Amino acid sequence: MSFKTDLALSIRSIPDYPKPGIIFRDITTLLGDAVAFRQAVDELVKPYVGLGVDKIAGIEARGFILGGALAHQLSAGFVPIRKKGKLPHETVRMAYSLEYGTDEMEMHVDALKPGEKVILTDDLIATGGTAEGAVRLLRQLGAEIVSACFVIDLPDLGGRKKLEALGVEVRTLVE
Ligand code: IMP
Repeated sequence: MSFKTDLALSIRSIPDYPKPGIIFRDITTLLGDAVAFRQAVDELVKPYVGLGVDKIAGIEARGFILGGALAHQLSAGFVPIRKKGKLPHETVRMAYSLEYGTDEMEMHVDALKPGEKVILTDDLIATGGTAEGAVRLLRQLGAEIVSACFVIDLPDLGGRKKLEALGVEVRTLVE
C-alpha cells in the first residue's frame, strides 16, 4: 500500500511577504520534505511519460529545482530561463510583465533545436506574466511546447487562462 501526503499541507504561507497584504506561498518546506518532494515530482511527471519530451525548461530560480528532477525522471535535458545578464553565452531575450512594470528573461540562443518538445516548469503560476514570457521565448527558439506545469496555481489571478489562450496545456498540483 502506498500513502499519499497532502501536498498543500507541506507548503508554508508567509503573510505580508514580500510586501504587506501579500501571502507568499513558500515551497521550500515541500522541497525539504522527502515524501512530499518525491510525490510532487512523481505527480508532475506522470502525464508526460512516453511523450518523447526532449527538454525541460525551468524558470529561475525554483523552476530549476523542479526542472532538474523532472528532466532526470523523463530522461530529458534541462535548460534554464534566467533573469537577464546571468547567462555566459549568446542569448535571446524576452520582456515580460510583472505586477508593476516589466523585466527581461533570457535563454542561450543554442539551448534548443527548432521542433524540440519542451515542458516549461516553475513553482507557481499567478498572473501568468512570467510564464507567458517564457512561452514566447521558447517559441522564438522554435520549441514545440508540450505543456507547462507548476506545483501551485493561484486561479484567481488568471495565469492558467492566459497560457491556455496561447495554446499551452497547463498542469498544476495544488490550488
Ligand atoms: P506571475 O508572473 O504573476 O504568474 O508570478 C509567478 C512568478 O512569481 C513565478 O516565477 C513564481 O516563482 C513567483 N511567485 C509569485 N508569487 C509567488 C509566491 O507566493 N510564492 C512563490 N513564488 C511566487
